[in-house]
Amino acid sequence: MSQDVLVVVEHLDGKIADITFEMLAMAKDAASQTGGAVVAAMIGGNDDIAGQLGAASKLYKIDGAGLENFNPESHAASVKAAMDAASPRITMVGHTSTGMDLASGLSTKGKIPLAASVISVESGSETKAVGQLYGGKMNVTSYLGDGPCIVSIAAGAASADAGKVDGAPAVEVVAAPATDGRVTFKQLIPPEAGDVDITTQDILVAIGRGIGNEDGVETAQELAEALDAAVAASRPIIDAGWLPKSRQVGKSGLKVTPKVYLALGISGAPEHLEGMKGAATIVAVNTDKNAPIFSVADYGLVGDLYEVCEELTEALEDR
Ligand code: FAD
Repeated sequence: MSQDVLVVVEHLDGKIADITFEMLAMAKDAASQTGGAVVAAMIGGNDDIAGQLGAASKLYKIDGAGLENFNPESHAASVKAAMDAASPRITMVGHTSTGMDLASGLSTKGKIPLAASVISVESGSETKAVGQLYGGKMNVTSYLGDGPCIVSIAAGAASADAGKVDGAPAVEVVAAPATDGRVTFKQLIPPEAGDVDITTQDILVAIGRGIGNEDGVETAQELAEALDAAVAASRPIIDAGWLPKSRQVGKSGLKVTPKVYLALGISGAPEHLEGMKGAATIVAVNTDKNAPIFSVADYGLVGDLYEVCEELTEALEDR
């Protein structure tokens, strides 16, 4: 076993997911504690993608037929082949829709301990990973020993910019092993853009469960109109049927990068942060001063969202 940290690259339609850069940044810190190197593993991909992975000193490029679309069985076997080649101490996988499948498959396949939804990793004499439970309401520390381990990294745990380094690492091609799995990829269904395309808005007024009832959506709508913004939401609002799915921000919704993201009554679960942490300025209003959303917010206000909405709307309308 080496002291290296292996980052599994996540990419779709020629674009690297931010979680990859976040992991590269975390991997650099973890590897520096033991004198190891940061290396990466990528299934498929091309030279353009490889050229953005300069934070890694080596790239294990896994080639094989039928790997274009995510399949938990063949992709786990492919990453396992890269792990065998690299023999890393720590393997980092994104705690994303596909990464959750991949990490647990790799863990059971290789009998390697896994810590999930991890927000910090320390190596040294023993690997220690802090993960989040219950949508970020509780942290759990896992001690993973000094042998190989897997950590699935929660979105927003590190700065993506810190992991962005231009330049292609040295490439070693790894042949994907043949698998005769039972899972077949059928279709990728992207979320519909819907009535308002929240991915193209400059300002979003985003509401969460803290809004309390369906009438609250109108209060947010009034503020959005005064700000020339659109209303977006966390998943519980969509699940309740108060807004269409096209307004959902997060892991199972849309990824947004507005100039301003006003989060009203949103706790800041990792699945939500995954969709909005790229906003230029995040303003959060929450009655709970310990809400995780405040850890990513540029401006935070501990208070009742209704009071804030009313005062802000009035002030904007009086302009
Ligand atoms: P809560 O966590 O219940 O937070 C409500 C907040 O409102 C609390 O912090 C509370 O203090 C505050 N509050 C209450 N009253 C007031 C008030 N009057 N004024 C101000 N603040 C108030 N979630 C998403 O959002 N998007 C996704 O795409 C998504 N995908 C998921 C995919 C998977 C596989 C899983 C497992 C979960 C996913 N989730 C997603 C759900 C996610 O884990 C959280 O449950 C969800 O984001 C919580 O939404 P919330 O912050 O609105 O609600």
